[in-house]
Amino acid sequence: MKVWFLGTGTSQGIPVIGSNHPVCLSNDSKDKRLRVSVWIHWDDYSYVIDCGPDFRQQMLVSKCPKLDGILFTHEHADHTAGLDDIRPFFFKQGDVPIYAQKRVLDSLKKRFDYIFTTENKYPGAPSVNVIEVKHNEPFTLGNKTVQPFIALHGGLEIMGYRIGDFAYLTDVKTIADEEVAKIKGVKVLVVSALRLAPHPTHFNLQDALDFINIVKPERAYLTHISHLMGFHEEVQKELPENVFLAYDNLEITI
Ligand SMILES: [Zn+2]
Repeated sequence: MKVWFLGTGTSQGIPVIGSNHPVCLSNDSKDKRLRVSVWIHWDDYSYVIDCGPDFRQQMLVSKCPKLDGILFTHEHADHTAGLDDIRPFFFKQGDVPIYAQKRVLDSLKKRFDYIFTTENKYPGAPSVNVIEVKHNEPFTLGNKTVQPFIALHGGLEIMGYRIGDFAYLTDVKTIADEEVAKIKGVKVLVVSALRLAPHPTHFNLQDALDFINIVKPERAYLTHISHLMGFHEEVQKELPENVFLAYDNLEITI
């Protein structure tokens, strides 16, 4: 299975519009981060987790040839705002499966009503095939089983996904022990780490490192990174040897 980091930035991306922060002005390509998403593919299967405002650009850069479904972590715009751009996949393949918990599906139906409507639908609008995910009910993607698990993003319940030896959790601030138990011992963990200073709704770097010490994966990758984390190259030097700052267009094999 391969995991391509389509975007590794927080909600505003890096650079932030109009910012003169040194990280936003950096020439290092690893300091340029689109909104957070990954493309997961194996055999002939191809899925993304989240579909933010940079989705179109991410699909073009990664040359993702098909889309068997989108798994959503939560409804915030930096994770969902690109949904309209599934149109080329819809035109080629038909309805695109989307996987999310009920609250997230309800939010998408409100904001993208023209995608979900069945009456007087505009011919150019895409359609989706809705699959509701419940945190204690594993489901199948292609020939693999997915174990969803929940965590809290401040007060908001968000979903992480374990697929075999890979687990993905972004926008987390707290997670219950019984949910951590579902991902203990995975080989590769992707987890969000916003910045150095504490934040009310996100892990900062130290929170993420503490969490990695509990889950104990062979390798961990940090994502959903703000410019306030610092320069990629400098932060990477300070990390434990099995922990990596992810960067856009990094592809890993699991
Ligand atoms: Zn986010």
